[in-house]
Amino acid sequence: MEFKEMFKTKQDCIDYITSIRWPHGFECPLCGSIRYWKKNKGRFECRDCHTETTVTNGTIFHKSTKPLLI
Ligand SMILES: [Zn+2]
Repeated sequence: MEFKEMFKTKQDCIDYITSIRWPHGFECPLCGSIRYWKKNKGRFECRDCHTETTVTNGTIFHKSTKPLLI
């Protein structure tokens, strides 16, 4: 099955990537906070340092030439 066929919508894909990247929930890459605001299109904003993170940032989905590191 092709990867793109696994998901009906882009939101499905974002939810899947989110569950891989943060299996125990969001964690801020900058300060390590687990408190966040969920924004649209897979973006999260840290409540403590207000850094905005894209769920695909730094993953295979962001740069397909790199191996998947979780
Ligand atoms: Zn933070």
